[in-house]
Amino acid sequence: MAGSSPDVLIIGAGAAGLAAAAELARAGRSVLVLEARERIGGRVWTRHVDGLPVPVELGAEFIHGRPAATFSLLRKAGAAAVAAPFVRWSVRRGELQLQRDDLFAQVRKALRGQAGALGKKDVSFGTLLARGLRGLSADARAFARMRVQGYEAADPARASARAIVEEWGGEGPGEEGHFRPAGGYGALLDSLAGGHGAGLRLRTVVRAVRWKRGAVEVEGTSRGEPFRAQAARAIVTLPLGVLQRAPGAPDAVRFTPALEEKRRALKGLACGAVIKAALLFRTAFWEELDGARYRDAAFFHSPAAAFPTFWTALPARAPLLIAWAGGPNALRLSGAAAPRIVRQAVASLESIFGKRAGIGARLDAAWLHDWQKDPFARGAYSYVAVGGHGARAALAAPVADTLFFAGEATDFEGEHATVAGALQSGARAARQVLGACRTLARPTPYARPPGTG
Ligand SMILES: Cc1cc2nc3c(=O)[nH]c(=O)nc-3n(C[C@H](O)[C@H](O)[C@H](O)COP(=O)(O)OP(=O)(O)OC[C@H]3O[C@@H](n4cnc5c(N)ncnc54)[C@H](O)[C@@H]3O)c2cc1C
Repeated sequence: MAGSSPDVLIIGAGAAGLAAAAELARAGRSVLVLEARERIGGRVWTRHVDGLPVPVELGAEFIHGRPAATFSLLRKAGAAAVAAPFVRWSVRRGELQLQRDDLFAQVRKALRGQAGALGKKDVSFGTLLARGLRGLSADARAFARMRVQGYEAADPARASARAIVEEWGGEGPGEEGHFRPAGGYGALLDSLAGGHGAGLRLRTVVRAVRWKRGAVEVEGTSRGEPFRAQAARAIVTLPLGVLQRAPGAPDAVRFTPALEEKRRALKGLACGAVIKAALLFRTAFWEELDGARYRDAAFFHSPAAAFPTFWTALPARAPLLIAWAGGPNALRLSGAAAPRIVRQAVASLESIFGKRAGIGARLDAAWLHDWQKDPFARGAYSYVAVGGHGARAALAAPVADTLFFAGEATDFEGEHATVAGALQSGARAARQVLGACRTLARPTPYARPPGTG
């Protein structure tokens, strides 16, 4: 049986685990990262296709706004952030129209009036919309529903209205633009993984975590062989969907003693669903249609389709369209065979451009990954469920100065559900570990010799 005993064990080599490892290794701690997959990155999974000028991102792709954690990593890696344009075309009343109105601004304005009322009793976002929001047009209401499903990956019947009102209705600048890391997210995380001396063990599936104050032992398999490792502390970056698995499920991680203190937090959060398919065509056919009027389109929306959202690779010109379904739409597609999912994506595109475009015949290749069925992800990213106020902070709280928690779902500083949130949660957990080490190392006052003050 292989074994190991560093200062700190980190479970998971996604953005959170890698960020935590880098911080701890730089502070001189010995670290071992245990990762179930044969690659790092977790829900970041970048593929490079010969002849294609942009990477294909099966997981995270955009940087939303200007989060400090991601931009500082970009600077260290010497990589650029490429601004993506925002031009949207939407099918409205059966016609593909340029979306000129800022529907999100309307939604935000209507939500601001709700904050006080929801402080007392949370309801689902679906209920809030059904009640009717003063001043909200039918188009803006449809947009709000599409955004909560598509962007938050949430089921409106489960998502906390209070959390969405806080997030969308805040006084912030709204749509702050979005970027892509040049060369893809994969290269960015690679830059975080190397050069600082933290150990990394791939193909190492943790199945059990036994712990008491000041001691953790994990058990599982590494490259098919039984594996065990011990440390004084561990950082758990398991995805929310994995932490929420029923204790008896084959892919559950068993904690002994059970994490009673996390039970409420795990109930207060839900794991959002996404199906994202990358479609490579022989040519960027949409750029030629209807007198080339869609040439600078960044997004296409068809709200009633199985895949309501598509985006192009702009500013790069490439014959690539990304199909995106979130929330209940994704759950309906999840589990189906890939060719069926791709057919649904093509049908959704036909609902935008019509059959005249011969879209199916122009398709060259497609890539997708079903994150819901992935035993090491069990979903795309987290959202707050009705009544789940404070759940992210509760999930993040250390247990007995021994178990520490990171990962996008634990970020309570405004970047949850994103790579930025995962990165900053990893750095936060590493600082908590270092703080706990210092606290324990400090001599206690009653140990001073008598008469010395
Ligand atoms: C389709 C999709 C699109 C997205 N788009 C964006 C986007 O555009 N922008 C953005 O910012 N974010 C996006 N996200 C969200 C982003 O990918 C995540 O928030 C972030 O990558 C999560 O990082 P993490 O470290 O918290 O978790 P993970 O990356 O999931 O890392 C956890 C690690 O734990 C490992 N693990 C799981 N179980 C075990 C076990 N038993 N033993 C050992 N290891 C285990 C996993 O393999 C994984 O590597 C997207 C996500 C998806 C799925």
